[in-house]
Amino acid sequence: MNALQFDLHVHAGSELWGTPREEFFVALDALDIQLSGLLDHAEFYYNPPPEWVRNSIERQKERVIDLKDATVEGFRAFCQELQAVRSTVTHDFLIGLEFADVGRLPESFLEYPEYVSNCFSISSDDGVAHGSMAVEGIHRFGQKIRASGKPGVVNHAFRSLACKARDAALAGEALANESLICRDDIRRVCDATMEAGVFLELNTGTIRMIEDSQEALDFFVYVLRLIEEFGPDMSVGSDSHQPTPPLTDGIRYVLAEKAISDTRFEVLIERMSGLRA
Ligand SMILES: [Zn+2]
Repeated sequence: MNALQFDLHVHAGSELWGTPREEFFVALDALDIQLSGLLDHAEFYYNPPPEWVRNSIERQKERVIDLKDATVEGFRAFCQELQAVRSTVTHDFLIGLEFADVGRLPESFLEYPEYVSNCFSISSDDGVAHGSMAVEGIHRFGQKIRASGKPGVVNHAFRSLACKARDAALAGEALANESLICRDDIRRVCDATMEAGVFLELNTGTIRMIEDSQEALDFFVYVLRLIEEFGPDMSVGSDSHQPTPPLTDGIRYVLAEKAISDTRFEVLIERMSGLRA
């Protein structure tokens, strides 16, 4: 087994109502993904939902979600629905919740530990470089997670930086790692993650987003080597909204460059295996 057979960050929640979940699991099995973490977005259950949720629903009229029911009760219904599927599929999966703004997380979400098996996660693209916002968010997240007794994941922490690197490279601008992010910023995120006692995600979706740019891939290798050096626990997630093959050319390249060492991969597999339901 290798770490890419885990995908702790896939979305098959209310956003994808209309896709039979059994088919989704069969597709994951066919891709040899042995354990997945199914996340839904907490913001869909906020009342009132934030602007981006309303816009997102507006764009996808076929989505079956009634905002009148957008409450934590709706989240409980989502979890129950997934639990009911569990006995009908062979695929091993965890149920989780992703939230972009930990400050707005209603405490009541954490009252359903019997439904949520894992994977409370925080989206943390923003403010990683040269800012304390992400780090403060990770600290607040850590407090909530400790209260819940569940494992947590900091998602795609360096995604926006990787995309900036790609955009700069594609625009023909000189790409100096140091101008985009400094060691100390990455160290702060890693330290906050370790203090919070949560995983920092190796986001394969980010690699997919930047793999048309060799410079951006090299930048991401640089970031991963720093993460390796600073030492937080890692998890693997794609953030995909449909079953996604674990390997692309970009991911192969990042692995071939030993951005993450074999030793780190072994630890990663061991820690993620321990999460099995
Ligand atoms: Zn996500």
